[in-house]
Amino acid sequence: MEFSSKFLENAVYEISQLPGIGKRTALRLALHLLKQPEEQTSRLSGALENLRSQIKFCKNCHNISDVELCEICSNPKRDTTLVCVVEDIRDVMAIENTGQYRGLYHVLGGKISPMECVGPQDLTISSLVDKVKNGMVNELIFALSSTMEGDTTNFYIFKQLEGLSVKTSTIARGIAVGDELEYADEVTLGRSILNRIPFENSMKAS
Ligand SMILES: [Zn+2]
Repeated sequence: MEFSSKFLENAVYEISQLPGIGKRTALRLALHLLKQPEEQTSRLSGALENLRSQIKFCKNCHNISDVELCEICSNPKRDTTLVCVVEDIRDVMAIENTGQYRGLYHVLGGKISPMECVGPQDLTISSLVDKVKNGMVNELIFALSSTMEGDTTNFYIFKQLEGLSVKTSTIARGIAVGDELEYADEVTLGRSILNRIPFENSMKAS
């Protein structure tokens, strides 16, 4: 692709680094931005700037937050002894949208995946185990996708918790094997969390 401007070329290059965006789409977006009022582009670059510099991770659940303790963890109406283990913030948003869950979350930051070089140490597993060891949790609900990586992660954590007194369950009904959690509809996901089953039983079933 030949560019008449280095600035345009740089913008296209940076935009094309985003997932799912090829050079052509990047060029279309860059030209679109050029046509917009300057304030709009400034707002976009400001928002991206803040996304990296201002956002924090909740010190309790590792969810993305603007403050040290996220809104969910600091809400006195939530049951702090019930913790739902999820991969990332999209799962928190999906479960929150159901309006069915009143406990807290623990955001792992991904799932164990040897293919993508993600090991247990890359996730927030040790902080979860510490939470359980400190006696802060009565029940853990595993709500990872029912993919091989999700199952591996579930099982790894389950092993780490051996001998600790905590009830473990896994979301069940309605989530098909191989489904990513964020794509489940709200009613199905809401029902799965209410009808969760003990983790041991889920292993026998599969
Ligand atoms: Zn939190």
